Amino acid sequence: MAEQIVNHKCPACGGGLHFSSETGKLVCEFCDSSYEVSEIEAMYAGKEEKATDAFEQAEEKRQQEGEEQPENWAYSDPGGEETPWNTSGAGGDWGDEEGNMRSFSCPSCGAEILCEATTGATSCPYCDNPTVIPGQFSGNIKPDYIIPFKLNKEAAKAALKEHYKGKILLPKDFKDSNHIDEVKGIYVPFWMFSAEAMANVSFEATKVHTYRSGDYEVTRTDHFSVARSGSAAFERIPTDASKKMPDDYMDSLEPFNYSELKDFSTAYMPGYLADKYDVTIEECTERADLRCRNSIVELLRNDVHGYATVREVNRDVGLKRGDVKYALLPVWILNTTWNGTKYMFAMNGQTGKIVGDLPVSKKKLHMIRGGVVAAITLIMALSPIGGYFASLISSYF
Ligand SMILES: [Zn+2]
Ligand SMILES: [Zn+2]
Repeated sequence: MAEQIVNHKCPACGGGLHFSSETGKLVCEFCDSSYEVSEIEAMYAGKEEKATDAFEQAEEKRQQEGEEQPENWAYSDPGGEETPWNTSGAGGDWGDEEGNMRSFSCPSCGAEILCEATTGATSCPYCDNPTVIPGQFSGNIKPDYIIPFKLNKEAAKAALKEHYKGKILLPKDFKDSNHIDEVKGIYVPFWMFSAEAMANVSFEATKVHTYRSGDYEVTRTDHFSVARSGSAAFERIPTDASKKMPDDYMDSLEPFNYSELKDFSTAYMPGYLADKYDVTIEECTERADLRCRNSIVELLRNDVHGYATVREVNRDVGLKRGDVKYALLPVWILNTTWNGTKYMFAMNGQTGKIVGDLPVSKKKLHMIRGGVVAAITLIMALSPIGGYFASLISSYF
């Protein structure tokens, strides 16, 4: 049977090609030749098609089918009722829920490569050649866009070191003996939602004046009812469509620079891992809706100035939901183990923004608490209101 995998090989020497984040080209590991993405695309179009056909045949065989494909939702006219997300541009095969493994044979060494059902690019564990499975990104599940990696593995490691800096509660031996178990560059699948939000929000706000009147100090609080209305367009709000990626980490990696979005091509993948989505658009719509609603309210809230306090009392938000697109975005994942606990960090492969939780040294925390108590004692000795500060500060820890 024909291969389902494509190995991108150097036309000059036959060596494995990988996509270089530095040059934005495909580079040969052996002879250093480099090729434009478009050249490799053209060269491999035929092979990709064959691999996709082979993949689809294998899938068909595997499938017991049955899933009905939902009709594509239409984008109804503005001003009408809230409309559903238009998924017509984002592939239709989203009832798919296979959780099993897939095996492919490596075209370079013939070994069997076992991977997850969502894997779209990996490397052969035996011969180390970058492998791409075009069938995972074809037909009606073809992504619309990709942002190619701009930062390499070394940049990811350096960013993690930088992340440690200035973290005074970080245990010293975590920093010193830190051995990163694994650094992986992954193209993570995202759905991108575009929408317009219209909102009327009312706030209760106060202004506080304090003045002296004879022997008395008078505090006067004026209450205001403040209303704001407005609309905002949101372009391509990303929500990650991969179950194994923690949503909060992926949200924190934003923003991505969309001016560097490219039309999707598998030629950006050799040398990286890539997954196809396993979270459906439907499963993400609630998150997308919530982000639109909260963002418009926050924009309006930020327009209320000059008050001592502002409290939202009512919101009325309408959404005009637009297109949903499918994109793969570059993320470096760094895993480390310390004292038997696993820590994961994620870095935006385009901008270098890094997120991840660090362990806290109990010893250092104690020392800092000790320091605070000493400082409070000093403040209390100097000022009669020290007690207030003391309770304020200690409630902090
Ligand atoms: Zn070469
Ligand atoms: Zn191999």
